[in-house]
Amino acid sequence: MIDYHVHTYLCDHASGTPGDYIEKALKARLFEIGFSDHAPLPEHLRNDITMEPEETEIYCSMLEGIKDKYPIAVKIGFEVDYPLHPTFDTQYFHDNRIDYMIGSCHFIDGWAFDHPLFVDEYNKRDINQVYRDYYNIVFDMVNSGLFDIIGHFDLVKKFGYRATVDLTDHILPIVKLAGKQATAIEINTSGLRKPVKEIYPSYDIIKLMFENNVPITLGSDAHAPEEVAYNFYDALLLIKRAGYKKIAGYSKRKQYSIIL
Ligand SMILES: [Zn+2]
Ligand SMILES: [Zn+2]
Repeated sequence: MIDYHVHTYLCDHASGTPGDYIEKALKARLFEIGFSDHAPLPEHLRNDITMEPEETEIYCSMLEGIKDKYPIAVKIGFEVDYPLHPTFDTQYFHDNRIDYMIGSCHFIDGWAFDHPLFVDEYNKRDINQVYRDYYNIVFDMVNSGLFDIIGHFDLVKKFGYRATVDLTDHILPIVKLAGKQATAIEINTSGLRKPVKEIYPSYDIIKLMFENNVPITLGSDAHAPEEVAYNFYDALLLIKRAGYKKIAGYSKRKQYSIIL
């Protein structure tokens, strides 16, 4: 199995060195581990969420320096906020050290909606509009064609605030577009550690993804070494139940298939 979403201490809200994460991946008998730490945000948004612009190169060379030292394939990626910010050099989209780019939406018009410090904002807004705004950004993100993988597809449910209307008309066009472009959507187990206690995306969305030929990857979103491969058994059951028989891997931004 593979884990394509793990962080490092550089983002200031995760612990452990890359070596610690790799050691845990070996214990969990993974055959690939992919780092996708938070690409730098501008200072006013950073709030201990991402690495600093000067650390981008440190991150890449740190991983380049150790990737061949372990009996496991080590992939180098980034988790990049969409829309893009000038603090992340777009050259990295064309850098042949990079295996994949995860696109994620953590902000709705400047509100860090998945940050525990700003949860109260959910009580001040129309929850259905929050979901619509979120999915509009995710649509644009997939449509940009910049990313190999879409991170935690329904992250807006993290704290358990649920839309009260059916959002299929917002979700289906994104899923169809991802299928057409072969943009993968990750199955992210970190939701199981959050108040929502559910994998991202929900089973209903995973079924829609399978019906529309959307490739998937698997990620724990580990922010500590012991979270590598977190609850992957549950994730496997879910994706197999939805019909998936393979997942996607990436090397230098080329997709390949891994049979489950
Ligand atoms: Zn994080
Ligand atoms: Zn994220």
